[in-house]
Amino acid sequence: MTRILLTGAHVLASDALSAPFADILVEGDRIAALLPPGTAVEDAARHDASRRLIIPGLVNGHTHGHGALSKGAGDKWDLALLLTHAPWISGGRGLEEKRLSTTLNAVEMLKKGCTAGFDLAFEFPAPSVEGLNVMAEAYRAVGLRAVLAPMVADLTFFQATPGLIAALPEPHRSRAAGMSMAKADAILQSIHDAARDWSHAVHGVRLGVAPTIPLHCSDEFMTGCRDLSERFDLPMQTHVAEARYQAGGGEERYGTTLLAHMDSLGLIGPRFSVAHGVWLTEDDLATLATRGGGLSHNPGANMRLASGIAPARAAIRAGVTVGIGTDGSSSSDNQNMFESMRLAAFASRLWDGATEDDWLGTAETVRLATEGSARLLGLESGVIAAGKLADLVLLDLDHINWSPLNNAANQLVWTEDGSAVRDVMIGGDWKLRDRRVLGVDEAALAGQAQEAAERLAALNAPTREWCETIAPMVACHCRALAGRFTRAKRLLAQ
Ligand SMILES: [Zn+2]
Repeated sequence: MTRILLTGAHVLASDALSAPFADILVEGDRIAALLPPGTAVEDAARHDASRRLIIPGLVNGHTHGHGALSKGAGDKWDLALLLTHAPWISGGRGLEEKRLSTTLNAVEMLKKGCTAGFDLAFEFPAPSVEGLNVMAEAYRAVGLRAVLAPMVADLTFFQATPGLIAALPEPHRSRAAGMSMAKADAILQSIHDAARDWSHAVHGVRLGVAPTIPLHCSDEFMTGCRDLSERFDLPMQTHVAEARYQAGGGEERYGTTLLAHMDSLGLIGPRFSVAHGVWLTEDDLATLATRGGGLSHNPGANMRLASGIAPARAAIRAGVTVGIGTDGSSSSDNQNMFESMRLAAFASRLWDGATEDDWLGTAETVRLATEGSARLLGLESGVIAAGKLADLVLLDLDHINWSPLNNAANQLVWTEDGSAVRDVMIGGDWKLRDRRVLGVDEAALAGQAQEAAERLAALNAPTREWCETIAPMVACHCRALAGRFTRAKRLLAQ
């Protein structure tokens, strides 16, 4: 078994409140021991980590690998408009584009200090065994851990949003009404087949399942996803109450909140996490906590799409496992968990009437982005301690972000932007050295990305034109729907 001794570094303590000098002994894929500086260890390769701050790898609680090829596609889009434009920003992808986009996403995460991500991966009109395998191979090539969860629905955005098709004038109404996803049975069969033969888990890529948005899934389809999750032990994640129009649509369709409806179908449990949850109620949080579910707080995407602020503090108080995520690059538009931490801490201060007790502190925020997110993925990582996975990020203390080092947690959240990330180890193996990704030719990757973006832009141009035509009508309808979710039900910070 390989033994590596990292010497001379500041090491972030498990409570993230301090970063004393310590040596770290790594054996195989795990941390074997935290040792006093200078401890003699035989049969271990020494790695001089002086002038480094070692932190646990950040874990991205919510992302989309397919989003990387469409970073920067939009500007003044809320969620309804993002979904309206989805057919052209994610359309026309073949297997190689799926591999490419996932690789881009994984490389960006790695270079910005992230060692694992919960990826809701989209294929249209249905997930395929081949597609899931190439995306898993992309993570393996970069060396990042992932939960790869096919993001699925049996209803289109137009079918899913109450009253939307009827609100469109002809000929757009007919076109929207004529769109469809693959049949529910075929989608569930694909996930079943992928799960039955999944070979990537031992290499750090676990299969999950993601019924994408409750309104976009028939009840039978959601229970089908639930059954697959139970049968194959698949982590499950769903965008729940991300935007207010969805909360309004849930009231209209189910007569309950979205989460209450999912709970009535038996989906909410320890394998389940909510992505976003901006419009969850107090009762929703209590249900989520009681069932052992989690929440990925993605403040960057929520601000970018004007969705609101997720009740992270209230979720923590309710006993929900909370992690932090970036969301995909079609709505965030980067994979920078340092930025996500900073925005989470900032957002917690914006609740009307919130006091310091309600704000997220820096050490607490770091723990959400490490331990918290790791729990959403079911990973034994997120803290530097004996027995944990050796997923470690080495920050350069000679970088301007750390000149000088005053307080590790404060600077991780307030100052660091990913640019001081120098080396990353995942499972005891180096994946980033001196800022270079070891498993991928980054220059070739950039060329492939540009070529694919141009090819896809040409291919999807007619679809784009139609999406842009109907976008104002969709925006108008969804704004009215949002008004049906009353403020009285809105959760308060306290
Ligand atoms: Zn998302």
